[in-house]
Amino acid sequence: MRIAMIGTGYVGLVSGACFADFGHRVTCVDKDSTKIDGLNAGLMPIWEPGLEGLVKANAERGRLTFTTDLQGAVENAEAVFIAVGTPARRGDGHADLTFVFEAVRELAQYIRPGTVVVTKSTVPVGTGDRIEEILREEGVADVSVASNPEFLREGAAIADFKHPDRIVVGATDDRAEDVLKEIYRPLFLNRAPILFTGRRTAELTKYAANAFLAVKISFINEIADLCEAVDADVQDVARGIGLDNRIGAKFLHAGPGYGGSCFPKDTLALLQTADKFGVDQRIVKTTVEVNDDRKAGMVERVERAVGDLKGKRVGVLGLAFKPNTDDMREAPSIPLINALVERGAEVIAFDPVAREQAEKIFSGIHFAPSAEEVAEGADALVIVTEWDEFRALDLERIAQSLRGKVLVDLRNVYDREDAEAAGLAYYGVGRGTLERT
Ligand code: NAD
Repeated sequence: MRIAMIGTGYVGLVSGACFADFGHRVTCVDKDSTKIDGLNAGLMPIWEPGLEGLVKANAERGRLTFTTDLQGAVENAEAVFIAVGTPARRGDGHADLTFVFEAVRELAQYIRPGTVVVTKSTVPVGTGDRIEEILREEGVADVSVASNPEFLREGAAIADFKHPDRIVVGATDDRAEDVLKEIYRPLFLNRAPILFTGRRTAELTKYAANAFLAVKISFINEIADLCEAVDADVQDVARGIGLDNRIGAKFLHAGPGYGGSCFPKDTLALLQTADKFGVDQRIVKTTVEVNDDRKAGMVERVERAVGDLKGKRVGVLGLAFKPNTDDMREAPSIPLINALVERGAEVIAFDPVAREQAEKIFSGIHFAPSAEEVAEGADALVIVTEWDEFRALDLERIAQSLRGKVLVDLRNVYDREDAEAAGLAYYGVGRGTLERT
C-alpha cells in the first residue's frame, strides 16, 4: 500500500515508520523543511526509544521517505493520513483545526479518485464530516474520509503502535474499511483487536479515552491528599484498588498532575464539544480544575519542606512531562519552576534528554549535567519526572552533597525509610501525614 503521512511529528513519524516496517511504502510530509532535511540526514527531530533504528532501517530499504513536497506524496498515495497538530485554541480550549483544514485544502489539489483520507490527529466529533465538505468545496469527488485515532504513548510509542491494545477505525464506506484493514493487516494477524465503528464514534472514542485516564489521575491525586490528612499511604491504596480488575492498576500514581501534549488539550476540547451540544460533562470539568490546582500547588509542597523560598537553591530532577521523552508540553515542571523562581528561589535542573526543549521555555534557571551535580549545595532536591536513572540514586551521597538535606519526591520513587536512613528529610505525595512526611 502506498501511504502519504501529512505531518511528521510524534504521531506522523512513529506511525509512518511503523507502517513502513509493516511493508508499506510511506512518504512522510512536513512543511517544516528543517525537520525534513534533518530526517533525510538521519537526524531524529524527537527523542523516542527505538525510533532512530526503525527510521534508518526502513529508509535504507526505500520504504520510508521524507519530503516537503505534498503533491508528489499525495498524487501517488492510496491512503493519505493526516497527523498534524490540533493544539488547544488560546483562550477557550477548542481544538484548533487550522492545520487539519489547511492540509485538507492542500491535499485536495492533488488527490486521485479512490483515495482514502484518514485523520490520525485527535479531532472533535464532526471533523470528518467537515473534511468531506471541504473536499466537495474543492471539487474533489470519490474520496472516502475515515477516522483512525492514535493511542500511542510518547516514550513507548513504537511498542504501542506495534502492539496496540486496540485499533479504532471509523469509516462510512467499505472502501475505507478495506484499505484500513489492509494497512493494519500485520496487526490483524497478531490478533490486535480492531473496532470498526462510525466515524463520529471513533472521533469521540479518542477523547473519551483520554478524559477517562485524566479522571483516574486526578482521582488518585485527591485520594493522596486525603491520605496525607488521615495518615494513610496512597501507594498501598492504589495497589489495593488497582488489583481489582474492574479498576486496573494503571494511571493510579499520585503525583504533580498530568501534563503532556494530549490530556490537557483533549479534556478541554471534550468540554467544548459537550458545551456545543448542550451536554454537561461535570466529571471531566472537575478533573481539569483539580489538575490545574494540583500543578499550581506543587510549589507549596516545596515551600513546606524548605521554608521561605527566597534565596534558597532548589535542585529539580526531571523536566519532561514524563520519562523517556523530551516533550515539555504542559509539563508539571513548568508551573513549578516558574513559581519557584517567582518566589525568589534559585533553580538548578537536570533532565536526561529534555534540556534543549527546556532551554526554550525557562529563563533564569541553571542546568546541570547530572543528578549529582544538581544536588551539590542545594537546599532541597525535588523529583518531578520519574526517569529510571533517578530511581537508583546514591541517597547517602546525595545527602552529603545537599546543603538542606531535603528530598521532595513528587513521584513517590523512594521509600521514606531509605531516604531517612540516608539522612534526608523525606516529603512524598500521599504517604502519611504532612507532619511525618
Ligand atoms: P506535532 O506537533 O509533534 O507534529 C505535527 C507536525 O505536523 C509538525 O511537524 C508540523 O510541522 C506538521 N504540519 C502542520 N501542518 C502541516 C501541513 N499542512 N503539511 C505538512 N505538515 C504539517 O504533533 P503530534 O504530537 O504528532 O500530534 C499530532 C496529532 O496526534 C494531534 O492531534 C495529537 O493530539 C494527536 N496525538 C498525539 C499523541 C502524542 O503522544 N503526541 C498521541 C496520540 C494522538
